[in-house]
Amino acid sequence: MPPAVIQTKDFDITLVRHPRRVRATLKVSDKGVFLYIPTQLPMHIVHDLISEKSDWISQQLAKQPQPAPTRQWQQDEMLYLFGQAFTLQLTQKGDAPSVRLTDSDIILSGRLHRIGLKTRRQTVINWYKDQATIYLNKRTAELSEQTGLTPTSITVKTYKARWGSCNIKGNIQYNWQIIQALPSVIDYLIIHELCHLAHHNHSRAFWQLVAQHHPHYQQDQAWLKQYGAMLQL
Ligand SMILES: [Zn+2]
Repeated sequence: MPPAVIQTKDFDITLVRHPRRVRATLKVSDKGVFLYIPTQLPMHIVHDLISEKSDWISQQLAKQPQPAPTRQWQQDEMLYLFGQAFTLQLTQKGDAPSVRLTDSDIILSGRLHRIGLKTRRQTVINWYKDQATIYLNKRTAELSEQTGLTPTSITVKTYKARWGSCNIKGNIQYNWQIIQALPSVIDYLIIHELCHLAHHNHSRAFWQLVAQHHPHYQQDQAWLKQYGAMLQL
């Protein structure tokens, strides 16, 4: 039997019937809500089950990773820096494309009729990388002083699927995209990498050291898990 979809006011549920199943199982992921049930389970029981679990389903859905927005690099698009929203402003100017920050805007100027999405994107990304390099070097030095953990070198680069790394020689590498997150989340990442200077693993001792230097790290870790994908530019 093909899966059926049940629509509720807050979400859709894909119903998967299976003859060998003995009990109903509910699964919530970033792909959606799935209810696996025995073939013969009557529909009124299915509906009871869904309404009984509906608060829990909503809670689970709210925790799922948020997908990356598709960017057009147009006027008034929302961008983030240190967890704050800025509006992309496009300004026509005769010279090479450049970026400037105000209290509320990230201003991209240049010969806009000549530069396509790719150049706009690359110009803004280069600007973010520069901001990240300055901030992450400065903040790492401050947190090194606090923790007594000092890296050999710091590099800021583009990673597709990670926020940072620390190798056995003590070289720390950061993903520049992290500077879109809240300062506390950035601190968590820095502390995480600094603690790898003491423990080159994710052992209990490692997490204890992270907690010692950044007590609310679990909150920031959860935030990264949920919203990290939104920081792709
Ligand atoms: Zn790690």
